[in-house]
Amino acid sequence: SLADRLQNTFQKIRGKGKVNEADVKEMMRDVRMALLEADVNFKVVKDFVKKVSERAVGQEVLKSLSPGQQVIKVVQEELTELMGGEQSKIAVSNRPPTVIMMVGLQGAGKTTTTGKLANLLRKKYNRKPLLVAADIYRPAAIKQLETLGKQLNFPVFSLGDQVSPVEIARQAIAKAKEDHHDYVLIDTAGRLHVDETLMNELKDIQQLANPNEIFLVVDAMTGQDAVNVAQSFNEQLGLTGVVLTKLDGDTRGGAALSIRAVTQTPIKFVGMGEKMDALETFHPERMASRILGMGDVLTLIEKAQANVDTEKAKELEQKMRTMSFTFDDFLDQLGQVRSMGPLDDLLKMLPGANKMKGLNNVTVDEKQIGRVEAIIRSMTKLEKEQPETMNGSRKKRIAKGSGTSIQEVNRLIKQFDDMKKMMKQMTNMQKGKKKGGFKF
Ligand code: GDP
Ligand code: MG
Repeated sequence: SLADRLQNTFQKIRGKGKVNEADVKEMMRDVRMALLEADVNFKVVKDFVKKVSERAVGQEVLKSLSPGQQVIKVVQEELTELMGGEQSKIAVSNRPPTVIMMVGLQGAGKTTTTGKLANLLRKKYNRKPLLVAADIYRPAAIKQLETLGKQLNFPVFSLGDQVSPVEIARQAIAKAKEDHHDYVLIDTAGRLHVDETLMNELKDIQQLANPNEIFLVVDAMTGQDAVNVAQSFNEQLGLTGVVLTKLDGDTRGGAALSIRAVTQTPIKFVGMGEKMDALETFHPERMASRILGMGDVLTLIEKAQANVDTEKAKELEQKMRTMSFTFDDFLDQLGQVRSMGPLDDLLKMLPGANKMKGLNNVTVDEKQIGRVEAIIRSMTKLEKEQPETMNGSRKKRIAKGSGTSIQEVNRLIKQFDDMKKMMKQMTNMQKGKKKGGFKF
């Protein structure tokens, strides 16, 4: 993934106080490639890289983080910016019913999304939509919507396939007024490609129905094509929003970025599956992470920034060097790691973690850490600072006080001893070069 690739580049420049222009250029080559691979439009990539480069040169690099991570952050922020804010709002007409037209190519997911949207309107806004079957061409298209309507318990308006879509829309809106529906969702026909006949029909419906929203439904898996489709539909009809479907597939979602950049039309929702509740609000930052293939690495960086106290880390390093490291310091370190959240969650945020085989089986034993903490807290000041004073009866008291066993207490003391020995070796080998930190 891009995140992996960038990490390699970053290895080379790690430790520099500043990122210079040549470094940024090299990183931007990776960013560029990754975006193109994620199916982002060429021109969009070009503009984007230019913008990020400008910001990245001379970025102050935080001491605790690698310069690479700073650049990833810039890339992420700019991607998010490019895709706009959250736009899940749906128009409300002050003269009900509010009319929404669903348009798009065949197979994009219009009919499915019509059902999902109705479901969402009822669930989230307590609305009462009428579904309209205006695709008279695709065999069984009407039946498909009727089935969804039955399943979700929504009325579906249809006049069979012998009446024109414009007439269907006209009668449907009249019926909606009569029955006090506040929303009308018109499921229109698609074609395999954008063609004039289709566009003319859609324009006719648009003219008659005067919709408050025209949602283009596009299949995220179609990548670059989705961008061209969006552009044509937008030119002809003037879209008010895009629904990107099939994001539950393994697409990188680069289309999202290009569609927004090329058409200036907000992506309002994303389809995350075939089920009727699989329509979600579009989150630009999530999509940015997905495009970068880096999990929630940003969240991780932010957590690290917020929680790891650099002053304390320095103090700790000093203690290690002078061998005055005690059980209290150990407890402190545990606390810092834990304050970042459940360790399992942290692990999963790492880039590429979702691809790591068996990661799902790896569980960091939080309970175990809790027991270690309890043991240390049951020690007296003297015991914490001079573990060698812990004799049999002291250990027994500690085990009792922490609700553990003498074996566990012994194990911890041994681990602590081993660690101190290791530190001694480390500090002898290389004077304080290695970072302090424990692996769980
Ligand atoms: P239409 O021709 O545009 O009306 O497309 P349909 O609504 O009939 O959908 C075509 C196919 O895509 C159907 O099999 C849907 O179940 C499927 N589909 C639609 N949206 C999604 C989605 O978000 N995820 C997945 N996995 N499948 C979807
Ligand atoms: Mg359909």
